[in-house]
Amino acid sequence: MQGTEAGKPLIKFNHCKRSIYSFRVPGCCPLCQEALGSAELADAPVSISSPFGNGHQEKCSFLFRPTRGTFLREYDGRSDLHVGITNTNGVVYNYDRCGVRRDRAGWEQSLVVPLLQPGMLGLQDQWDRYLEDFSAHEAWLPHRYEEDHHNCYSYSLMFINCILATEGKEQLDKTEFTEKYVVPRTRLASKYITLYRAIEEHGFYMIDHASPEAHPP
Ligand SMILES: [Zn+2]
Repeated sequence: MQGTEAGKPLIKFNHCKRSIYSFRVPGCCPLCQEALGSAELADAPVSISSPFGNGHQEKCSFLFRPTRGTFLREYDGRSDLHVGITNTNGVVYNYDRCGVRRDRAGWEQSLVVPLLQPGMLGLQDQWDRYLEDFSAHEAWLPHRYEEDHHNCYSYSLMFINCILATEGKEQLDKTEFTEKYVVPRTRLASKYITLYRAIEEHGFYMIDHASPEAHPP
């Protein structure tokens, strides 16, 4: 379920040979004003799922969100991101200049990467203790924090590498980590944010179908 924190749900429908995105189905097409009640089944509205999730409802996951503000309101594609790891109760462990934080709120609009393969129940049972023991290490004391080299990414990546080692998998370096976990999701999120803000501003957003029989107006 999408709460208000994840933004309003989006829908898409087809009319005037275009895909039209909106927060709700309008009574008539915003382009030609024709009533939409008689839409054919193929043109029936579909809901567009949000790339964001409530991090506090996701267990054993890697999360990221803008350091300041939210994706839908403030993110500009270059904003600093803050990252963390959830335990099995949706508490978000994250490292900053104050040391390891255990957040019970504030990650309601996050990009979420589940870290446990289905069926890894043994690991899930140990997860909270692993995360707590890992976080107690002196590497994560506040004075060790360095904005560029020993930060929230270092903390999450090192924990993910501990999990990968436990599963007998290869370690990730920072570049692989970013390319595999972060970039695909921020790219998807950026498209969604563009769409979302355009609808907020204009009431709808449309794209032309690249269909060969489409005629220019
Ligand atoms: Zn129309």
